[in-house]
Amino acid sequence: MKKKIALVCGAGGFIGSHLVRRLKQEGFWVRGVDLKYPEFSKTEADEFIIGDLTDPGLCKLVVQGGIDEVYQLAADMGGAGYIFTGANDANVMHNSATINLNIVDAMHKAGVKRVFYSSSACMYPEHNQLDPDNPKCSEESAYPANPDSEYGWEKLFSERLYLAYQRNHGIEARVARFHNIFGPEGTWRGGKEKSPAALCRKVAEATDGGSIEVWGDGKQTRSFLYIDECVDGILRLTRSDFSGPVNIGSDEMISINNLAKMVADISGKKISIDNIPGPLGVRGRNSDNKLIKEKLNWAPSQPLRDGIAKTYAWISEQVAKAAK
Ligand code: NAD
Repeated sequence: MKKKIALVCGAGGFIGSHLVRRLKQEGFWVRGVDLKYPEFSKTEADEFIIGDLTDPGLCKLVVQGGIDEVYQLAADMGGAGYIFTGANDANVMHNSATINLNIVDAMHKAGVKRVFYSSSACMYPEHNQLDPDNPKCSEESAYPANPDSEYGWEKLFSERLYLAYQRNHGIEARVARFHNIFGPEGTWRGGKEKSPAALCRKVAEATDGGSIEVWGDGKQTRSFLYIDECVDGILRLTRSDFSGPVNIGSDEMISINNLAKMVADISGKKISIDNIPGPLGVRGRNSDNKLIKEKLNWAPSQPLRDGIAKTYAWISEQVAKAAK
């Protein structure tokens, strides 16, 4: 039997490289595309093309060869320090929108049908996320739209783009809104890292009895989804007959200070928290998993602490290596 073929755009990134590994385990032939190779381990893709997906010529090329499934994860992105300062807005909007416009059109012209698109919880309206104890992130609350970042606006536009190609051109789009994905082999330093990785790094670098800096008053809430469950969700949605958009996230909400305490506890160190001003994003956010349970009969269920323990172990290894 002919092997199924997958194209992973953004295969050099955090989620993309984990997804490639899983698709290989499933027996796929995988083509990866990215500006760069994965940073922390060798890619398992059968073919890896280094290139810029804002180039329509490259998009036309990479969709050739009888692709069964496209996973579009390439985007210009980072944590709060990258997305919420305003300094990268034009690049974020231009680069990510251009990638999506190019790839979906190239798919359509090449007759490739099924595409998974990774949107983000950052597209939910800011006014529903002001109360840290009671954020509203059910899928239908997206409109009237009011994301708090240009990154969120681009995601909203691109969600609609894929669904428009589905409506008009027969593309089979599957759209997920990820909520803070974390785990080993994610960015852990340099300014694009997200809070779980940043806190693991700070704790790993701190001395026992020392302190770490946490942005804001630490009462802002979030939920975090471990990478393996994210990949489970991507594959389940892509093979389902439901287009979404649907949340892929954990509904175990925690304040950032409590997350810092959890990391410190896992490390076995006694650490105090120093809350300092910093870029924040919304006050509260949590994944609402009602729709995914209803449509896929599944939702992430792993406790946050299990994933944080695995991530802390990996980041403290990186910190130790970097110190040598
Ligand atoms: P990542 O930054 O690790 O991966 C994105 C990859 O896209 C990078 O390797 C980057 O080099 C590549 N890329 C960017 N511009 C490109 C271009 N012009 N041509 C080719 N490749 C390009 O991010 P990630 O955490 O793996 O996220 C994957 C997707 O999921 C992104 O679309 C992101 O917006 C979305 N998402 C992630 C999270 C999260 O918590 N990680 C949350 C919500 C949404």
